Order: sequence, then C-alpha cells, then structure tokens
Amino acid sequence: MTKQYDVVVIGSGPAGYVAAIRCAQLGLRTACIEKWLNKDNKTVYGGTCLNVGCIPSKALLDSSHKYVEAQQHLDAHGIKVNEVAIDVPAMVGRKDKIVTQLTAGVKGLFTANKVDGIAGTAKLIAKDRVLVTDHEGNEAALAAKHIIIASGSVPIDIPQTPIDHETIVDSTGALEFQEVPKRLGVIGAGVIGLELGSVWSRMGAEVTVLEALDDFLPAVDRQIAREGLKIFGRQGLTIKLGARVTGSKLSKGRNKTVTVEYTDTDGKQKIQFDKLIVAVGRRPYTAALLDDSVAVELDERGYILVDEQCATNVPGVYAVGDVVRGPMLAHKGMEEGVMVAERIADKKTQVNYDLVPTVIYTHPEIAWVGKNEAELEEAGTEYNVGSFPFAANGRALAANDADGLVKLIADARTDRILGCHLIGASAADLLQQIVIAMEFSASAEDIGLTMFSHPALSEAIHEAALAANGHAIHIGNRKRRK
Ligand code: FAD
Ligand code: NAD
Repeated sequence: MTKQYDVVVIGSGPAGYVAAIRCAQLGLRTACIEKWLNKDNKTVYGGTCLNVGCIPSKALLDSSHKYVEAQQHLDAHGIKVNEVAIDVPAMVGRKDKIVTQLTAGVKGLFTANKVDGIAGTAKLIAKDRVLVTDHEGNEAALAAKHIIIASGSVPIDIPQTPIDHETIVDSTGALEFQEVPKRLGVIGAGVIGLELGSVWSRMGAEVTVLEALDDFLPAVDRQIAREGLKIFGRQGLTIKLGARVTGSKLSKGRNKTVTVEYTDTDGKQKIQFDKLIVAVGRRPYTAALLDDSVAVELDERGYILVDEQCATNVPGVYAVGDVVRGPMLAHKGMEEGVMVAERIADKKTQVNYDLVPTVIYTHPEIAWVGKNEAELEEAGTEYNVGSFPFAANGRALAANDADGLVKLIADARTDRILGCHLIGASAADLLQQIVIAMEFSASAEDIGLTMFSHPALSEAIHEAALAANGHAIHIGNRKRRK
C-alpha cells in the first residue's frame, strides 16, 4: 500500500531536517527519508553536518585549541602547568559523543513535531512518488503532492591521490585518526584543509598544505587573507601555493607512508607523509536518486537546477542545500528548507542570498558577509572602509588573544553597509551583529550611534563603523574612501 503524505523530504541533513520540521509545524503531513548508517549500523539523522562535518570538526577544533592554550598560552596569564598530555582516542571519543547527542536530538525533534523519519534509500520515481528501499532490501512507495530533495554533497576525489581510507583519507577519515600523524599532508588550502590541518597541527603534526592556486583564499578579502596566511604560518602550518599535485605513491608493508609528487615554480617536487587528507572541494550528490522518467534537470556540474525559490523544473519538486547552487554551507541549506516549507504553505518567504555569512573556524576565525573591496572595485561602486585591529581592543588584550582586525565597508554615497570582513577570536559571533544590521539596511553611522558594552570584542566592530566615517576614537583615522 502506498502511504500518502503532503510532503516527502529526501535527506535529513540541515537542509532536509529543517525543511521537514517546518513543514510539520505548518500542519503538513511530512516524512523525511534518510539512508545514513552510523558505525553501529544504526540510522542517524543530521547528514554531513552533524555526522562528519560542522559539528565533529568544531569539536576537534575546540579540543585542540584548548590543548594549545594549555601548552602555550596559560603561561602568559601567570598559570604554570607542569605537564600537558594529549589522549587522542579520548578527544575523538568526546567528538563522537557530541555527534550522538545531536543526531539523537534530530530524531527527538522529528517525534516532537510528528515528522515520520523513515530509514532507507529514496528514489524519485514520479513527480509525486518516492520509492524507499530499506537496509534489508524491502521496498515501499510513498506519495506526496510536494517533494523536497535535500540529498547533500560528498567529497571530490582526484585520481592523483586515490583515497584508501587508511593513509590517504578525505575529511571524514581526518576526523578519526587515533594518533597524531608525524608528517601530515593536506591537499587543498580551502576551508576543510585549513580547519582540519589546524586541528592536527595543534596536536603536534608537522602539516604541509599543497594548494594548486597561486592565491591564498581567493574568495576572501585580500587584506584578511594575507593576515591569515601570516598567522597560520606562525602557528606552524606550511602552506605551499601554486603546488599542482601530479601523483602519489604508497609505500609497501604495514605503517604505510605516501609520497606526493607535485610541480611548482621550482619544477618537480616530492614530499613524504604519514597521512594525507584530500580536501579539494565537495560535489552535489544525486546517485541513484532520480528516475529517468521524472526528468529533473541538473546543470553540467551535477547540481539540481532550481530557481530563486528552490523550485526545480518539475512542478511540486523542490531541491535545497548542497545539492543546489550557492555556497555549501549548513545555514544556507537550513534557510532554503524553511523557505520551501513556507512556500508550500502559501507564505511568501525568500532567502536573502546577498547575505550568506561564511566562517573559517581556524584560530583566529575568518568571517565575512557581503561584498569585499575587489568586488566593489570591479562593480565600480564607491565605498568607504573602516578598519580596527584587535590589538587596540581592551578585551582582546585582556584575553591575550589580539590577532586580527575588523574591516567594515559602507557605500560612499549612502553610508549603507556593503560588507564586513573579520579575522579574529570569535569572528563568527561578531560578524552576526553586522549580518543582522545589514538585513535591516543599516548604515555605518547606525552602528556608530549604537552603544556597545565595554570591554567587549564587539567594540572593534563599533570602532570600524566609526572609522568608516572618519570618527574612530581609539585609533587614528586614515584615508578611507576608495
Ligand atoms: P547533507 O548534510 O550532506 O545531508 C544530505 C543527507 O541526505 C545525508 O544524510 C544523506 O545520507 C542523505 N541522502 C542522500 N541521498 C539520499 C537518498 N537517495 N535517500 C535517502 N537519503 C539520502 N558548513 C557550515 O555551514 N559550517 C561549518 O562549520 C561546516 N563545517 C564542515 C566541516 C566538514 C568537515 C564538512 C565535510 C562540511 C562542513 N560544512 C560546514 C558543510 C555542511 O556540512 C554542508 O553544507 C551541509 O551538511 C549540507 O547540508 P545538506 O542538508 O544539503 O546535505
Ligand atoms: P574548498 O572549495 O573550500 O577548498 C578546496 C581547495 O582545494 C581550493 O582552494 C582549491 O583551489 C584546492 N584544490 C582543488 N583541487 C586541487 C588540487 N588538485 N590540488 C591542490 N589543490 C586543489 O573545499 P573544501 O575545503 O573541500 O570544503 C568543501 C565545502 O565544504 C566547501 O564548499 C565549504 O563551504 C564547506 N565547508 C564549510 C566549512 C565552514 O563553513 N566552516 C567548513 C568545512 C567545509
């Protein structure tokens, strides 16, 4: 018998589970199908983000940061620690517990909101019908007027360094090392390369990152990227730009090593590692998901084609999250999930794609929203820039954590904030204040006129906004118009 729903969601990552919960809140009978099995062969909800992405990586980033603090920074506060030791399995075990807690939390939210969580692999067999094959091979059909595809993404492999899940791993394997590799290679100086490279470097690995591009973090404001490169270098990450990987060789026997061959401006190079993380991007995942008869259109890179409201070319079928265009970020997918649920319920919600914040959770964090200087110059927009270094912020100095700066960009004509770029401690949370301000079309003057608690890191944002209009109090005001 075919079970009937108003909405069937395929995939329970942040885009899918949020869509399902919002649909159910709006009174729609909703099912969410998930095929993910954990190490114990149990179905778990939460997708990449909760199982092998945002959450576990941040758990290890926080643990490894505490280790570095204890080892290197407590002394400056007058705290003497005799011996700091690391227990990698305990650290990885703590990460696993957080994952279990949060994935169970999604299951609990499904129950509380009356979403039917269904274990199995979904295939769209008609515009209003999904076939689910469970892990024992049993098939069941579900019918729904609306279907939301949230099947996510998977790591990109490159033929030069095939993943063997032992010596050469992807981001998932890099969350599971049971000991600190002595020499760790990372291919790709993107978000994952920098975050997971930092984790293992903090724990004592000698980390070399090989990046094909000549520019470091090309999507990031140039000044912030330069500052980041300098700081990461000081922290011990060796980042080789313009390094094009041409091949790799695994050694024979137990305790394998891998030799990576690459070319750079000096010609052919070789470097040997005990472990290698391949972090060269992710691709949309639609394997065995779409029956040919349904004709959902994909673009040439495999993303499901959608409009601004995440509707596909097939009426009643939507797609959200990593499987569609735009940055592969959990919060972007969540907002799309809410938008689609509300549109199905006849509300006119629209994601503001101009204001998607991005954060790299290194220490210091790098965070930005809106336009950067290069983009504004290319568009011919006149703008004012206000910057403020954390080295002049009382709270950052009190914490002995004063690397980095805030940069706020405002329209030269209207003073409306066009972008904000930070590198510093807690940059993600600081940035969010400007994201909210930008949602309300705030000007730099509005932020300048707002009272900020003292002493707080956020005062650096206040001062950057004041500086954009030449009124900074705690730093000299420089030329700011471009
Ligand atoms: P996913 O989370 O990939 O979920 C898709 C789900 O669909 C999966 O559970 C999959 O099993 C299921 N599925 C697929 N096909 C089927 C099918 N046919 N039937 C049933 N189920 C199916 N983003 C951030 O914003 N902040 C971060 O700090 C961050 N850190 C990250 C760290 C790492 C190491 C990685 C790898 C990613 C990180 N990301 C981060 C990216 C983030 O995880 C993704 O953007 C997000 O998970 C995408 O959500 P999604 O719901 O679109 O897809
Ligand atoms: P990425 O696109 O951020 O970085 C990949 C890097 O690898 C790029 O710099 C690219 O130039 C480089 N590269 C590609 N091919 C290469 C090659 N053959 N040799 C050397 N370098 C090569 O991708 P990622 O770091 O794998 O992350 C994947 C996705 O996951 C990203 O889109 C990101 O949005 C998301 N993610 C987000 C966060 C976060 O929000 N903090 C954290 C982790 C991942």
